[in-house]
Amino acid sequence: MNAMTDPENVVVVGNGQAGIQLVDSLRKEGYTGAITLLGEEPHHPYQRPPLSKDYLAAGKDPVPLPLRPEKFFTTNDVDARLGARATSIDRTARTVALDDGTTLAYSKLVLATGAANRELTVPGTALSGIHGLRTLTDAQTLHARLDAVRSVVVIGAGFIGLEFAAAARARGLDVTVLEYADRPMGRALTPVTSGFFADAHQRLGVTLRLGEGIASFDGNDAGHVTAAVSTTGERYPADLVLVGVGVTPRTELAAAAGLEVENGIVVDGSLRTSDPDIYALGDCASFPNVHAGARTRLESVQNATDQARHAARAILGAGPGSGPGGEPGGYADLPWFWSNQGHLRLQIAGLSAPGDQTVLRGNPAEEKFSVFCFRNGTLTAVESVNQPADHMAARRLLSAGRTLTPEQAADPDFDLKTYSKQQPATV
Ligand SMILES: Cc1cc2nc3c(=O)[nH]c(=O)nc-3n(C[C@H](O)[C@H](O)[C@H](O)COP(=O)(O)OP(=O)(O)OC[C@H]3O[C@@H](n4cnc5c(N)ncnc54)[C@H](O)[C@@H]3O)c2cc1C
Repeated sequence: MNAMTDPENVVVVGNGQAGIQLVDSLRKEGYTGAITLLGEEPHHPYQRPPLSKDYLAAGKDPVPLPLRPEKFFTTNDVDARLGARATSIDRTARTVALDDGTTLAYSKLVLATGAANRELTVPGTALSGIHGLRTLTDAQTLHARLDAVRSVVVIGAGFIGLEFAAAARARGLDVTVLEYADRPMGRALTPVTSGFFADAHQRLGVTLRLGEGIASFDGNDAGHVTAAVSTTGERYPADLVLVGVGVTPRTELAAAAGLEVENGIVVDGSLRTSDPDIYALGDCASFPNVHAGARTRLESVQNATDQARHAARAILGAGPGSGPGGEPGGYADLPWFWSNQGHLRLQIAGLSAPGDQTVLRGNPAEEKFSVFCFRNGTLTAVESVNQPADHMAARRLLSAGRTLTPEQAADPDFDLKTYSKQQPATV
């Protein structure tokens, strides 16, 4: 580590996936200065992905999975504060104000504030029984309510909506999903995989209504939701509604402090904001994404943890790829993602785009297949269903900047695993 650039006090706002990994990586990189980690939620930091999957499907008293064991904070000498919300940043004084009235000085500040659920504005949205799913508190409420309801309506056939739908079906409930687009998970998946999941959910017993958005909710005299009315005028009885219509990045602190914000806190390849002493990462950050060829924001565990590792090295001016200014090379880790929907494990490596050529490997009828995506003959992404070996091979290939031919991808006798482990020929 370069002692000249070693900050004295790092303050991290947000103790989710990105914030925790950042703290861990700072210590692993040898940083010995002070670390303060702020989390506004009351809970010990926990993993979000299970909340829409095993946690909800479990019959009795599910336990959240911690991001790190309790002793992590003492072992790593981290001043970790729960129920502590940062309310403003003074960039001139280099301080952060907290909701308890105290102020913290920083030499480097990291914003890992995540995202918030997008809310509906249709009539009836304020009725009770209409929920979002983002936090452990949300999941605890939903888990308890699922014992007491019969009919569930999910608004939005994105990842969280469909994971919730599968979990609610596993608990024997009647589930209807309303999606205004013509296919589920349409922004992220190719039509092949998206179509497979549309059929698979109907096989699970989910009523999937495509091309139908939400127009309004009906309620009873007690102010509780009783039905969802779709944009086609259909009325679906509902004791409970789950709204899964996407998220917005938590940029309020950054914007109020005058940092550049545009669909996320704008950062460079070092995850640094328009203020060189402030970094942003994870769901809240808009970064130059070499895999998309554009500035994007990604919402995934991979993105949060890999950006945190990269930012830790950038903060310390250390690590592989250090440039002449002491900064590492730009963040370029391969995006990958997973979603479990009932017995179906979807894994995605890379980023596809509309118009990519798609090649099928395996058999959707057996619920085991992968879709290989190519642009101008080069592999861009692979979507796998219950094919973890394909997913790992795809990650190896895409991370190394390698490709295969569409013919190889389609050939069931082509040994993808061995090929992906070969060293590329050096020129
Ligand atoms: C239900 C659910 C299921 C998911 N499933 C998957 C999955 O299967 N696969 C996958 O790859 N990804 C999944 N994700 C996405 C993944 O969890 C997120 O991308 C990841 O958690 C992002 O990490 P983060 O640290 O950027 O944000 P978060 O983990 O959201 O953490 C941000 C934290 O900052 C806190 N905070 C915000 N502002 C302040 C403030 N001013 N002061 C103090 N604290 C503040 C927030 O309360 C929050 O706790 C899922 C997400 C959800 C909600």
